[in-house]
Amino acid sequence: MELKKISGNLTVSPQISVSDIAALKAGGFRSIICNRPDGEGADQPTFDEIEAAAKAAGIETRYIPIKSGMVRDEDAEDFGKALDELPAPTLAYCRSGTRSATLWSLSQARKLPIAHILAVTKGAGYDMNGVARRIANGGKTPTDVGDAKYDIVIVGGGAGGIAVASSLRVRSPDLEIAIIDPADIHYYQPGWTMVGGGIFEPQQTAKTMGSLIPTGVKWIKAAVAAFEPDNDAVILDGCRVVKYNRLVVAPGLKLDWGAIEGLEETLGRNGVTSNYRYDLAPYTWELVSEMREGRAIFTQPPMPIKCAGAPQKAMYLSGDAWFRRGVLHNIDIQFNNAGGVLFGVKDYVPALMEYVAKYDATLNFFHNLISIDGVAKKATFKVAKPDTEPTTVTMDFDMIHVCPPQTAPDFIRVSPLADAAGWVDVDQATLRHKTYANIWSLGDVMNAPNAKTAAAARKQAPTVAENIIADIRGGSAVAQYDGYGSCPLTVERGKIVLAEFGYGGVLKPSFPKAILDGTRPSRAAWFLKEKMLPPIYWKAMLRGKEWLAKPEPIAVTRPAPAAE
Ligand code: FAD
Repeated sequence: MELKKISGNLTVSPQISVSDIAALKAGGFRSIICNRPDGEGADQPTFDEIEAAAKAAGIETRYIPIKSGMVRDEDAEDFGKALDELPAPTLAYCRSGTRSATLWSLSQARKLPIAHILAVTKGAGYDMNGVARRIANGGKTPTDVGDAKYDIVIVGGGAGGIAVASSLRVRSPDLEIAIIDPADIHYYQPGWTMVGGGIFEPQQTAKTMGSLIPTGVKWIKAAVAAFEPDNDAVILDGCRVVKYNRLVVAPGLKLDWGAIEGLEETLGRNGVTSNYRYDLAPYTWELVSEMREGRAIFTQPPMPIKCAGAPQKAMYLSGDAWFRRGVLHNIDIQFNNAGGVLFGVKDYVPALMEYVAKYDATLNFFHNLISIDGVAKKATFKVAKPDTEPTTVTMDFDMIHVCPPQTAPDFIRVSPLADAAGWVDVDQATLRHKTYANIWSLGDVMNAPNAKTAAAARKQAPTVAENIIADIRGGSAVAQYDGYGSCPLTVERGKIVLAEFGYGGVLKPSFPKAILDGTRPSRAAWFLKEKMLPPIYWKAMLRGKEWLAKPEPIAVTRPAPAAE
């Protein structure tokens, strides 16, 4: 018997036999739902046989037989009702368990988020993407078939989504393009480090979404709930369906605040802050400005995260502020990193270590934040050093800057577009989906092994646009992305170590070394970050002006000339 737990009160399984009833009783089951019609298979016990054995064991039963592949809306309603009425926990079975899992998914559609339903069923081994539309429609078969359709649909109007829409419009103004995004505000997240350092005002990092959607591009203000790549369709929350010829997926990543026990309830209070949220970055600066003594902890979760340098940027700018105010010697700085290195590309580490020394920061590697007690001002870390037994350590703090763990968004993780780790599965050069030829992806959500940064999206957008246009014209991919990403490490107010690198950690400087040596702290790089990168983002990247982002052509290997 293969039991697959789906919720607190329901487990599903393939066909059971009379002899399984004793084990089910011993396992605590109090009711059984049979979803397989009698006589479907030659060696299948009848419902009456199962019922008799169950009754003898004191287990209640219900018969809701479903023909394979024919789950009707009323069946799901009956199933939901039975679940409510029967004593829990319940086991539901059919031939493989799929019908039972489908009935549960549809019956819970109005109670649970679709991504949760898809995730728990996927975890139990059942793919419910085929009924995603019905789940999105509250468990009912949608009747409205007037689906909108566009040449290109873009999921997400963030750095990658808006940039690729503009790059497509520049190349082919007649394309019918829609961007789907529920957000009112678009954020320039690279500016949040500067807000946390007291350099930018928060408002400098936000603009209304409406003002950034390129002219001629339709903005569908809704969240995508699920994908139907075999039907060239995406399903929106509330079950509207949008169809496409080609799809671009760019909804960023999920900040998993809830993964750290106690964090959500204390964020923004008790000295607990994070530059990873627009509304909290000013609190970082408030804490830093007020602090005169005590311990400040800066945390970094396991990779991948967006802007891998941001956790330490917060530390350096805080250290610099305390240094300038003459209070640094009273402040104990601890940098607790779940990983084992300060920065993934070794060329930048020596310059960073000079600042670690200047601010007298203690580096604690393999320290992963697992819980926070804000009121008691204590943070607990799991310490998992290679080749040693993991332990936990609790540290007091006066201020703590938390970088949250990060995953692919739930609706991506459970979709057919995801790889085993949950990220959109693309070819790392062309950014085309590995399975679905009319889907591309860029930005933080996809699985190419580049640094997840807006700078990366700046380079990826023209690549995706070029390759989509080539595909529309019937050709193969013409542009490739080299893995470029950039991380301006704000080591002190006025100086930056400008990390720029591609796949495999290969350095990819934008400027000659004589003008700007990225491996050394420089005022030129600070000027770039403070004065130039924001307008490059708002006025160039988001408007299809591909400054510092020319797509790299794919080298065509010509066949050798035939021998004469
Ligand atoms: P985002 O810009 O996050 O946009 C995602 C969009 O998708 C959002 O508008 C969201 O509303 C939308 N969306 C989400 N779910 C759905 C859904 N279900 N349906 C439809 N739409 C949806 N990068 C740098 O280059 N340099 C830096 O110095 C830098 N520093 C950073 C510092 C911090 C503190 C942070 C947080 C980030 C930093 N970054 C930096 C990283 C950079 O901001 C991201 O890599 C970049 O924004 C990724 O772009 P994206 O389009 O993939 O996602």
